[in-house]
Amino acid sequence: MNNNRTAPSQIPLRSFLSGLEPYAPGEQPTGANFVKLNTNENPYPPSPAVIEAIAAASKRLHLYPNPASDALRRSLAAYHGVEPGQVLAGNGSDEILRLLVHAVISKGESIAVVAPSYSLYPVLSAFFEGGTETYPLVDRERLPEELFTGPEPLLLLANPNPPLGTFYSRAEIARLCRSRTPRLVVVDEAYVDFAPRDVVPLLAEFPNLAIARTFSKSFSLAGMRIGYLLAGSDLVRELMKIKDSYNLNHLAQVAAAAAIASAEHMRALRDEIIKTRNDTTHALRELGYRVPESQGNFVFAIHPDAADHYLRLRERRILVRYFDTPLLRDGMRITIGTPDQMQRLIQTLKEIVKAKGKD
Ligand code: PMP
Repeated sequence: MNNNRTAPSQIPLRSFLSGLEPYAPGEQPTGANFVKLNTNENPYPPSPAVIEAIAAASKRLHLYPNPASDALRRSLAAYHGVEPGQVLAGNGSDEILRLLVHAVISKGESIAVVAPSYSLYPVLSAFFEGGTETYPLVDRERLPEELFTGPEPLLLLANPNPPLGTFYSRAEIARLCRSRTPRLVVVDEAYVDFAPRDVVPLLAEFPNLAIARTFSKSFSLAGMRIGYLLAGSDLVRELMKIKDSYNLNHLAQVAAAAAIASAEHMRALRDEIIKTRNDTTHALRELGYRVPESQGNFVFAIHPDAADHYLRLRERRILVRYFDTPLLRDGMRITIGTPDQMQRLIQTLKEIVKAKGKD
């Protein structure tokens, strides 16, 4: 039998690989007609200025891109009110997170994470033969006191934190930075444009703070793979040494700069998504789901029959994310789509819940 989990013995692979559980991304169906609410993408297209910039940039594909994404770093620095030397562009924020773990974690050391959260973090640590110390959130939302003084050299915290969408205040992040040093506190702000405020002003105060951002969510550019880091220039300089020489392709650099230059397009659609999120939360609660207040572009809908609802939605070509883990199997994570998509979701769930009542 061809067991593809077993590496052929002729290849001298490093032994940790055989025990590594890879990250499981959400399904990307190839068929048409799916209502796709499973990977927290933006349902709206990027700004027309982005499409035009990509078309124009496609004329110079025979040349290598700028290795450090310098023009993009300058526009991101101006956008956030920091120095260009404080910005590092990456192939999605996943690459940024990987670089941070690579730079800090040695074999046998552990990262600190909360649970539930983004399930990639422990996998990144395992890439470097590191472990993971998990601090369970109180009621799946509040930061536990032990997190503030944990001994791990690197803390990865998403804010807002999926899949519930909990948002942590600047004061809480400041306390995390202050309460233990040396420790690098990485705040993963993938969804922060859907939340009240970011922690960028804290960079001036805390050299041990690093912020990961992405163009995949609010800027509607998941397909381009663009992320970036905001941090002290000393940390950025060190990370530059271990990134791929040309980690961001030319089209991605140009697209991201155009997206920043037309950020009002993002903000208008972001406001739409927030409105749809609030309407969806309300409609789900009316149907009997418990829905914690989310500050992301997704909600977590809790119901005793969540696993069954997930499957029934799938049968009707509506994809949401179900995590079959002890902490999350009582709910579905639902990405906020267009109002039409959400109406179709709510209508379908209404039928599912009603049919179940007749069983
Ligand atoms: N951080 C969090 C919390 C996420 O949910 C995601 C999306 N899966 C990412 C980072 C990755 O974003 P990117 O597309 O920029 O790699």
